[in-house]
Amino acid sequence: MKLHLSGTDAVYSIEQIALTLFPERIPRYAAEPDSEGDRSETVLLPGRVETRIVLDGREALGVCPVEEKEGKRGVSYAVRTSFYRAALSFLPQKPLWGSLSGVRPAKACLVPAEKGVEEAERFLISRYDVSPEKARIAALAAVKAVKIRNGLSERDASLYINIPFCPSKCRYCSFITRAGADPALLEKYVSTLLLELEKLRREEDFRLVSCYIGGGTPAVLSPKQFERLLSAVRTLPGAEDAECTVELGRPELIDREKLGVLSSYGVGKISVNPQTLDDRVLALAGRGHTTEDFFRAYALAREYPFSINCDLIALLEGDTPEGFLTGLERLLSLSPDTVSVHSLAVKRASALEHAGGRGQVALTVGRAAELLCTGGYEPYYLYRQKNTADGSENVGWAKPGHASLYNVVMMEEIGTVYALGAGGVSKIFRDGEMIRRQNSKDPAEYMLRIAEQIHPDKKGQ
Ligand code: SF4
Repeated sequence: MKLHLSGTDAVYSIEQIALTLFPERIPRYAAEPDSEGDRSETVLLPGRVETRIVLDGREALGVCPVEEKEGKRGVSYAVRTSFYRAALSFLPQKPLWGSLSGVRPAKACLVPAEKGVEEAERFLISRYDVSPEKARIAALAAVKAVKIRNGLSERDASLYINIPFCPSKCRYCSFITRAGADPALLEKYVSTLLLELEKLRREEDFRLVSCYIGGGTPAVLSPKQFERLLSAVRTLPGAEDAECTVELGRPELIDREKLGVLSSYGVGKISVNPQTLDDRVLALAGRGHTTEDFFRAYALAREYPFSINCDLIALLEGDTPEGFLTGLERLLSLSPDTVSVHSLAVKRASALEHAGGRGQVALTVGRAAELLCTGGYEPYYLYRQKNTADGSENVGWAKPGHASLYNVVMMEEIGTVYALGAGGVSKIFRDGEMIRRQNSKDPAEYMLRIAEQIHPDKKGQ
């Protein structure tokens, strides 16, 4: 689908909304207008934006006024909204997230959320045509984010440590992670993390409020490696009171020794991720563990005073809405403290077919939301990835008092996050500006760069 703009350069806005509403048509910006094929033409006119969409020979027009006082932002909004209004004629039903595109739905309503949940909900519904059930989820998350943000000072910072290694690669994985963690490489990687940690302590002035060790699969680390890493984290300013989370991930790697080390170093939150509670689906996904492994790891983890999170993915290949929801009910009977429900990101529209076609993932996550609400969980953070089936969201649900500070800070971009390790992207807030710093995604390259930064005299040797 070709997208053309006249009188405005809001290319990002038009591409985002087109990709969200028509993921299977692969929207592409075209510098020149076209009169053939599937296309859209968006024009900035005095006081309004008009978008004409032509799909399969059928045509529709969408119009949105431009609020002059909003400047460039107002034009971007009108571009997106005019496209959305035209697109409604081609969609089988109104999208649950309305015209809201982008990764962070709650971030879109942080300002009205200062006045409460209802105000944030009203804003999302009237400005973006978001459905009441999704507006509620985003508004609740936004209100939590505002509360956390108001309690943070500019010196407060979070730490993310990436362990981009896994015992094997899951078939659906879209992360940058290495399958088959070599012990010698892991040892060198942890040593490099310690160097980077020391560098951070020397160069930055901050007080740690949360630390999150994620991946990948951090459970590939040995008890000794966890000990090295966590004892270094504990020496950072503020660490004694900071929230500390380890996303252990794959249940088959979890044992008593590792859990004991985490607990003794002040880790309060861990993640043990079943993804689904159907062995057939796990095997198809190449997860390398069974539901039995999950129940064993979960029971073991419950022997320690951790707040436990469990991740699920709605409708992996071979799963059905009924199967997934039955699994969720089984999981809830264990009473995990937080549950994250993810919508699988699909690479091609055809990949939706395994889930019974369009609408099934949305239906499943909607029903999951009802079950979680009934079980006493509240949504506390959410995000949307590109190409999720049905444009569905990923939501973190928490029992009262168990929401992860780190997840909220990171997701809503309301405080500094220093990210260490290969692929780490730091977001540092200074004087109201956000500075991004990115480490190399390749572990070997990352280790080399850090060594060069610590010992510049040995560069190239
Ligand atoms: S455990 Fe997670 S990060 Fe590792 S391969 Fe599977 S999906 Fe990817």
